[in-house]
Amino acid sequence: MTYDLTVIGSGPGGYIAAIRAAQLGMKVALIEKYNTLGGTCLNVGCIPSKALLDSSELYHQAVHRFAEHGLEAEAPKINFGKMISRKGEVVKQTTDGIAFLMKKNKIDVYHGFGSFVDKNTIKIEGEESKIINSQKTIIATGSKPVMLPFIEFDKKRVITSTEALELKEIPKHLIVIGGGVIGLELGSVYARLGAEVTVVEYADALIPTMDVSMGKEIQRVLKKEGFKFNLKTKVDSVKVEGEEVVVKATDKKGKEVEIKGDYCLVSIGRRPYTDKLNCEAIGVKLDDRGRVEVDEHLQTSVDGIYAIGDVVKGAMLAHKAEEEGVFVAEHINGQKPHINYKLIPGVVYTWPEVASVGYTEQELKESKRAYKSGSFPFRASGRARASMDIDGLVKVLSDKETDEILGMHIIGPRAADMISEGVVAMEYRASAEDISRMSHAHPTYSEAIKEACLAATGDRALNM
Ligand SMILES: Cc1cc2nc3c(=O)[nH]c(=O)nc-3n(C[C@H](O)[C@H](O)[C@H](O)COP(=O)(O)OP(=O)(O)OC[C@H]3O[C@@H](n4cnc5c(N)ncnc54)[C@H](O)[C@@H]3O)c2cc1C
Repeated sequence: MTYDLTVIGSGPGGYIAAIRAAQLGMKVALIEKYNTLGGTCLNVGCIPSKALLDSSELYHQAVHRFAEHGLEAEAPKINFGKMISRKGEVVKQTTDGIAFLMKKNKIDVYHGFGSFVDKNTIKIEGEESKIINSQKTIIATGSKPVMLPFIEFDKKRVITSTEALELKEIPKHLIVIGGGVIGLELGSVYARLGAEVTVVEYADALIPTMDVSMGKEIQRVLKKEGFKFNLKTKVDSVKVEGEEVVVKATDKKGKEVEIKGDYCLVSIGRRPYTDKLNCEAIGVKLDDRGRVEVDEHLQTSVDGIYAIGDVVKGAMLAHKAEEEGVFVAEHINGQKPHINYKLIPGVVYTWPEVASVGYTEQELKESKRAYKSGSFPFRASGRARASMDIDGLVKVLSDKETDEILGMHIIGPRAADMISEGVVAMEYRASAEDISRMSHAHPTYSEAIKEACLAATGDRALNM
């Protein structure tokens, strides 16, 4: 069989690339080594984590908020098995949806492990082995959790995010190594369900890729929920002793710290996954961090072979992978697509959520760009008071001379959805004053964006 385009990997990068290419008239094959489509994001990432975050947040609300709303009920009992099986059902509906989309777009799906024989020939090893030919190929093989040699990963007590989404019981004390997005989200799930959660982080701040003020604020809020934080702390060993996990670390003063829990989630990052793909043999170069090297068109060092998503440089995010999938399909079709990488938003689905786009304050300082800053706390928002979500703020950074919005950073209710306003504003190069002159429905959380823009425009917030 010969294809115009073959995509290896069915995550958000791969399946979206396949659909866009099919829309543009290409004959497309999609290869996936697992039985279900959708990759990390749909199977063991974005979707299942959000399903558990939503279930645990409902429980948390019932236990901690109902009484204040005037709702008197016995605290609900947790049926954890049911919670996990509901999550499984959400995943199944979503991955089945991708299989439907492949059929609808007449994309041939091969389940099996894909590897290069040569530039135009791909071997698929599954229940039966097949060889297919392809004019062009996209590598969309994603990433896997980073493992460290001194950590005993038994996948029962010392676990990655994949196992944390499938536990049989709620941990009593979950130790989370890594205070990034995945650690804070999964830590939140179990903290809300009653686990003690201790985060050990090597850096001096949480979510270090975001604006410093966001890390500080989320730390303050999560502390109120019972999280314990050990920042600037280096893990030296993780050992399983019966039903206990013992983490030994060195704190910022050089003192040894010992933390004992019943589960330890190691979420220190993800590595690009190109194992056994045979990249080097056909001339596809990897960089020093194992990522597939690509040019500005996302083409690898071999003509006609492209790479997208977590397997190449840039943020490891589903929507970044999707943009790249569309980009490559349209580029192959002769179009001139464009991605503004600075405007890929980042989100942490804690509650309150954290969301960010554009430049951080520290980046602007480092580049010596003159900027103004305006912020507005949710405590001053009527909508936030109504829903009792008063933690957090919106911070807007704009150019000192032109007032063009350079960054938007939100920690607050539904920040993940609200950050789109910042993306639209910045794609159209709006000024803070432009946004502050647009009507925002009242009462909404998004009024806080307008108010922060007013504050950035000239200290003109109206409700504070
Ligand atoms: C717990 C968790 C929560 C997350 N939450 C979010 C979130 O809320 N928002 C967000 O934007 N991102 C989130 N992410 C990150 C997101 O999942 C990834 O950025 C995204 O899945 C990357 O997409 P991709 O297409 O590059 O690769 P993947 O989704 O990793 O897909 C790659 C696919 O390729 C397949 N494959 C690999 N090698 C081969 C081969 N040789 N042959 C055949 N198939 C192969 C794999 O089996 C896999 O299905 C989360 C990740 C985790 C772990």
